[in-house]
Amino acid sequence: LEAQFLRAQRLESLGTLSAGIAHDMNNILTPILAVSQLLPLKLPQLDANMLRLLQVMEDSAHRGAALVKQILAFARGVEGNRTTVKVDELLTEVTQILQQTLPKTIQIAVDCRDDLEPVYGDVTQLHQVLMNLSVNARDAMPHGGKLQITAEMQTLDSTTAQMHIEAKPGLYIVIGVKDTGMGMSPEVLDRIFDPFFTTKAMGQGTGLGLSAVLGIVNSHGGFIDAQSEVVRGTSFRLFLPAYQVAAGVIEHDDDFPPGHQE
Ligand code: ADP
Repeated sequence: LEAQFLRAQRLESLGTLSAGIAHDMNNILTPILAVSQLLPLKLPQLDANMLRLLQVMEDSAHRGAALVKQILAFARGVEGNRTTVKVDELLTEVTQILQQTLPKTIQIAVDCRDDLEPVYGDVTQLHQVLMNLSVNARDAMPHGGKLQITAEMQTLDSTTAQMHIEAKPGLYIVIGVKDTGMGMSPEVLDRIFDPFFTTKAMGQGTGLGLSAVLGIVNSHGGFIDAQSEVVRGTSFRLFLPAYQVAAGVIEHDDDFPPGHQE
């Protein structure tokens, strides 16, 4: 439990720090991007070689800007605009996007009860959580496979809840994201939530996807259970408190959501 607490604290201070860096970085990148786009227009006599170099500069600045955006999304994980969210609607929305964007070799199966209690959360953040997990699942199944998304309800008693930081006993919505991909060794599994930890090739992964997922789920008063087996696949289960439980947490716990200032 203490380890979880320290991890949450570490994530939070890292969030504050990285938001500051990302903000400065944005100010640095903006003129680089603007100049690399403007020069070819202002100087029509530039030769092809020069134009190519400017294109390299522009592409690089774009990549930097995309990274900054991801860092900010991770840093904002602790805030958000909360409303009651219907998980079945969220899953329908995400599934539609996945059906259009994932390779056809990946079969998507959704199994969601339609009588789920709502959660109290930020739709955009929860959307991002499911997309991050699904994109990881896609990356783990380069030769195709099955992506299974489920949602059900589960009541946690106080003993089970105590094993997880910030978790209160009561009703939880459990969202499962399961793939039949390459899986992970226990050593990798142990580090997946560390910011910047990635096993992907340079430029393919930032190592921020799951840190953002964890930050968002924790700030919703929830927790994550991750299991994986090499070659067989990986299964994430997100426990999000149902609306009543979450509202109780917010009313009675001064630390919820964990204090975070821009
Ligand atoms: P990134 O995807 O940018 O590497 P993440 O934080 O999302 O960053 O993931 C960290 C690492 O966790 C990945 O590089 C990968 O090694 C591992 N991982 C995450 N999801 C899965 C999955 N579904 N199957 C196998 N490995 C995974």
